[in-house]
Amino acid sequence: MKIKIIILLSIVAFVISMPFIFNKSVTITDPHKLDADDNFIVYEWVEPRTGTNKEWDYNLKPVQVSDRVWCFFGAMEMPTKENAGDMSNSCYIKGKDSWIAWDSGPSYIFAKQAHAAMKKIADLPVKTVIVSHEHDDHWLGNNYYKETQGAIVYGPKSVNVNYLGYDEHTGKPNENTRDVPPQTRMIRALYQNAIRGTKLAAVDESFDKTTEFTLHGIKMEYVKVGYAHSEEDWFLYLPEDKVVLVADVVMNGRVTSNRDGIVVGQLNALKAIKARDWNHLVPGHGFITDKTADDESIQYFTLLKDRVLEGIEEEIHPDFITKHVTLEEFRNKELYYLLSPGNVFRSYEELEMYEGDEEDEKEEEEEKE
Ligand SMILES: [Zn+2]
Repeated sequence: MKIKIIILLSIVAFVISMPFIFNKSVTITDPHKLDADDNFIVYEWVEPRTGTNKEWDYNLKPVQVSDRVWCFFGAMEMPTKENAGDMSNSCYIKGKDSWIAWDSGPSYIFAKQAHAAMKKIADLPVKTVIVSHEHDDHWLGNNYYKETQGAIVYGPKSVNVNYLGYDEHTGKPNENTRDVPPQTRMIRALYQNAIRGTKLAAVDESFDKTTEFTLHGIKMEYVKVGYAHSEEDWFLYLPEDKVVLVADVVMNGRVTSNRDGIVVGQLNALKAIKARDWNHLVPGHGFITDKTADDESIQYFTLLKDRVLEGIEEEIHPDFITKHVTLEEFRNKELYYLLSPGNVFRSYEELEMYEGDEEDEKEEEEEKE
């Protein structure tokens, strides 16, 4: 009898605790419906189906962010075989006669499946692709759009220079240009059925400074923020839509990766974003797209700069700077343990020079203009 009661009680306790055990994430039944209501958008990450399929199934579901903007939100992880590189955000803007792709994702197959999903919303070609920066989770889909759509790719010169070996000054191929482009981390990491067909495709059109244009009936400002998260970062502002697509100068829900970036440039980029009038911001990684979308990044980089500078002031030895500056506020964010110490160390290297040489700082500022 006693045993029966104990079993019964354990079952009751288990049932009561069920919501707490399984309720780790918010369940979104229809992500298409999450849109312009000033609340943040949560996209429930759906694992792609693995197996022996000829073509990886990214299981892509576009989320509408505003009237004319839909985005694909990637996992809050580093690129792995299991996520097939689907760990960054990319968007589609609905023009009159064409979709405009903002970043093209980690592979040819990703881009192909993204376009197929968007065609169900409006059966339009993709004549223009605009790229934010050179990291390969953001632009390896370019060759799908160029090969099948005849798309023109706008993007940073650094893609052509750093990956294809184009001339730094002319942005065109020269005698040193590689015949075979290098394998990026994505090409090395992904399963064949995910990366098949992906080729490093050159950017067709680059700009030296912030440029305004109207493409397929959409007004946009392509804003150069320069050396921030990578060697050359750009964001896209849609003034009529009050949307800003900023890629990796903003991340939320996870700790950023500043391995190729600089804190001072990041803070400048965040200032340039704040200076625009927008209701929705789509980060390069993370699911928050409302007016608070950039809060975490502003806090992270402000604290990072202040605390590392304090550490330098207190003459903390470089070996101990990551123990001294821990950014506790971000401990519960994704990728904290993996990336935050590296960001601290990288900032230490940068800010030590920044402190030591005012001249450099001025020159850097001038270059940004
Ligand atoms: Zn990046």
